[in-house]
Order: sequence, then structure tokens, then C-alpha cells
Amino acid sequence: MRRLSGLVLLALMAIAPRAQADDRLNVVASFSILGDFVRNVGGDRVNVTTLVGSDSDAHVYEPTPADAKRIADTKLVIINGLGLESWLPRLVKSAGKAIIVTATSGIAPLKLGSGADPHAWQSVVNAKTYVTNIRDALIAADSADAEAFRANAQNYLAKLDALDREVREAVGKIPAAHRKVISTHRAFGYFAAAYGIEFVAPLGVSTESEPSARDVAGIITQIKQAKIPAIFLENISDPRLIQRIAADTGARIGGTLYSDSLTAEKGEAPTYIDMVRHNIKALTSALAD
Ligand code: ZN
Repeated sequence: MRRLSGLVLLALMAIAPRAQADDRLNVVASFSILGDFVRNVGGDRVNVTTLVGSDSDAHVYEPTPADAKRIADTKLVIINGLGLESWLPRLVKSAGKAIIVTATSGIAPLKLGSGADPHAWQSVVNAKTYVTNIRDALIAADSADAEAFRANAQNYLAKLDALDREVREAVGKIPAAHRKVISTHRAFGYFAAAYGIEFVAPLGVSTESEPSARDVAGIITQIKQAKIPAIFLENISDPRLIQRIAADTGARIGGTLYSDSLTAEKGEAPTYIDMVRHNIKALTSALAD
């Protein structure tokens, strides 16, 4: 008798979370960093899927038929904008009734070449704008959960304020003459502008371009002349270019910087906050002396 009621209870427990899941707002985020912001604001009231997953490159993504279906089935799509999701227009045709919200709305974009630099999330101050835009989008899509979204956002924004202070303190401890690094593509313009570390990159604003032999030679000269102490790999780019530049200049490889993508759960940067902390630790230990 006791065993039977245990089984009944187990069966009920198996059904209950599924019923709750159906009730949640489905949100599609274009890439992993946005997905993490949506999860923090939405909490258990949203079901988040990302199109470009962890350790993947949003610049050169090829949407799949499954992505088109995800977009057709959702009410809300969160994108970065500023030209990051160049593959998006093809998908939006199948968007159905989904509302598309640009998380960078209100951020003054940095110019890079002829366009805008899309990597606005690399400044934690900008990340707060992403979060407030996402909060407002979730409230508009699901007003019944407005209180939970406001409370979650407030809590997460406080963590981002603390993170911003942490980055400023860490950079402040790096000798001013050492605040120069090489990274693979130009993903750290907003970080550089906010926190005062100079980044030089052999690739442009997108990972799509291949550097010419002259570009690489120029970088090598720059490293030697400016005595740039460390160069960094990225999780979304081919490491061979950076390895070659390190071999030719004697600059040390300071590890990996996470620019455009989080890692999987077990990796070094499964959340935005982990990513920023990892990057600042890698920078300070490579540039300290
Ligand atoms: Zn990028």
C-alpha cells in the first residue's frame, strides 16, 4: 500500500513540471550571451532557446530549418542588432507573429570601418542596457509575470554594477604602460573604450575576413615596436594565426579571451558574469608585470 502511494506520488511529480513548463513564455535569443541575460531576467517564468549556441560564432552562422521552426513557434525573439546577425533577415521571413526586440536599443554604437561595432556587450555598463531592454520586452510579452521580471532584473543589475566595479579595480592594478594586448578579431572596442585597455586585432570586426600577409606583418611590427606583452586566443576563432604571431614576435600567449560566445556549462565561461571575470583574470595575470 505504502509502495503504491509512493508510485502515485512519483507519477504526479513527473507530470507537474511538464504542466508548468507549458505555461512558460518561449523566448528565442540569437546567441548565447543574450540567452544568459534572458535567463537571468526571466527566471523560471521563461523557456529560453538560443540560435547560435555556446562556443559558436554568430558572425558566420548558417540558420537551420529547426531555427525557422523555433522562430515560428515563439512570441518573442531577442537579437543584438548593430549588424551582428547578418543571417537574420532570411529567418525573419518565417517569423510568424513573433516580436523582434533589439537588445542594444539606446546604446550609442562605436563606429568600426563603414559600419557599427556590434560587440556592445563587452562593456558591462552596456550590458545593463541590454538587461533593461530584455526586462521591458518580457513584461510586454507576459504582463502577468511583470513583478517577477522586475525583481529578477533588479537583482541581476546589482550584480552587473558590482562586476563593473570589479573590472575597473582590476584594470587599475595593471601598470598603465602594459595596458595593450592582441586579440584575434576586433571584439573588444567597447571594453577598450570603457576600461582603458588597448586592443589590436589582425582580423576585423567580423571573424569572416582573412587577414592579408601585409596585415599580419603590420601586427608583428606593431607588437615589437609597442612592446605588446601578451596576445590572446578566442574560443570562436582558429588559433593558428595567433600562434604564428606569437612565434614570430616572442609575445606570450595569455590564454583565451571569450568575446562573442559563452562556453558550455562545464567550460570556463558558462555565463556572462563568468565570461567577464575570466577575461579580466586572464588580462591581469598576463599584463601584471
Ligand atoms: Zn565578433
